[in-house]
Amino acid sequence: MPYTIAVGGFHHETNTFSPKNTDYDEFLKADGWPGLSCGDEILKTFPSLNLPIGGFLTAAAEHDIIPTVWANAEPYGRVTKEAFSKISNMILSELKPSAGIDAVYLDLHGAMVTDTHEDGEGELLRLIRERVGDDIPVVISLDLHANVTPAMVELADAITIFRTYPHIDMAETGRRAFTLLKQMLADGKKPCKAYRQIPFLIPLSAQHTESPPCNAIYDSIPTRLSANLASIDFACGFPPADIYNCGASLVVYGSSQTDTDACADQYLADVVQLETQFSNKLFSAKDAVIFGNTHGSPGTPVIIADVQDNPGAGGSSDTTELMRALVEQKAQNAVLGCLYDADAAKHAHAAGLNETITLALGGKNGPAGEQPMQGRYIVKALSNGNFQCEGAMIGGIQLNLGPMALLKVADSECDLSIVVTSERVQCLDQGLFREVGIEPAEQAIVAVKSTVHFRADFGHIAKEIIMAACPGTHPCELETVPYQHLRPGLRLGPNSGQVSTKRP
Ligand SMILES: [Zn+2]
Repeated sequence: MPYTIAVGGFHHETNTFSPKNTDYDEFLKADGWPGLSCGDEILKTFPSLNLPIGGFLTAAAEHDIIPTVWANAEPYGRVTKEAFSKISNMILSELKPSAGIDAVYLDLHGAMVTDTHEDGEGELLRLIRERVGDDIPVVISLDLHANVTPAMVELADAITIFRTYPHIDMAETGRRAFTLLKQMLADGKKPCKAYRQIPFLIPLSAQHTESPPCNAIYDSIPTRLSANLASIDFACGFPPADIYNCGASLVVYGSSQTDTDACADQYLADVVQLETQFSNKLFSAKDAVIFGNTHGSPGTPVIIADVQDNPGAGGSSDTTELMRALVEQKAQNAVLGCLYDADAAKHAHAAGLNETITLALGGKNGPAGEQPMQGRYIVKALSNGNFQCEGAMIGGIQLNLGPMALLKVADSECDLSIVVTSERVQCLDQGLFREVGIEPAEQAIVAVKSTVHFRADFGHIAKEIIMAACPGTHPCELETVPYQHLRPGLRLGPNSGQVSTKRP
């Protein structure tokens, strides 16, 4: 028998160290992700996309769906009170008692901090429970970078979480949420649950799920499931959030509380046992380029990840240290993407192809002390930024980035071209280079402003991948971060002797 299920989505990964708040307009943009979508538009557009709501809708095709709203903004600072209440109200207003709703599914990120709430998703779930009551099943799916809180676990009847970083299983995570919900509706009862927090933070640069120990942490999930354990998930957390419940955690759902608790305790113990296997080797910009010059050659590129200026984790995507090092070390056959500088893109379009323009490039939105890279640049390619990606993670998604340009550094012994965009976008798909005529596999050095997601589409062309620690608002060396609100006793990284002490 078909059930009536209300669905919606509200995503934000909030970097509380970013100086710029995230307002409502950021959620409207259809840049790297679909823009704010409502009603039937959700049913029409999302089922074919690798997004949790897409997977859920495909799996729930036989049921009556009430689409509410789906909204996502590129990671940045705190979500404004206005944006939070506007989007929450769009969801709540569709949950009418007269609609005969049997269940609610929400596609959430799980690391939203607002002007007024440390736990944005916890607050949204509280409002939803106020509206629909305690009996109706509410199931949510979360990003692997969720800072899962006790409130989320208490208010949702089940949580599923991505198991891959790069996130290639987004739709699959939505499908798993539907499986749990279907069981709940069939049984007429909710599962037992267990939640444990991991005692150390994990920087994003150490969260790649195909490298040890994250591969073991995730690969073990199917072996832990049993007849009375329906679902087990692990979130690596999002450390650039100075909040009490920041960090990694796990959730288990089953039919017996004893078994559910025992499974959670064993999984926690196993993760702690693996702690010494985490590594987080970051090069300086200069050493990274020297490595690239030595090991990369056209056709077998070294990929240098500018891990701390990743716009997908709240970075400004315009810091210049890696760019300067590529120039100073005279890198050849080198490209860098994507540098966010709307003014530079505008100038390039006004000047036209093959013209040389003088620019103060980048260095405008990042941490204090950042300076633009002043110089002359040759306009090698132009684009309107409207194209479809093809990689494993966001293939099929239409990007709408506005004016883009490929700028080649002039008056220098280096051979460096820079992909400039008018929106902040994480360099996670080769299409971002191809759109301006660059084939990444043919380069010697490919520098990307991304932490891990780039591996989904660039990993197979790389001779070597190395990570560089350059200025950026997405810290990957957590012991240097001026945290003030973490819970006491949480360690500031795997194997770290440094422990947070909550200040009064
Ligand atoms: Zn994520």
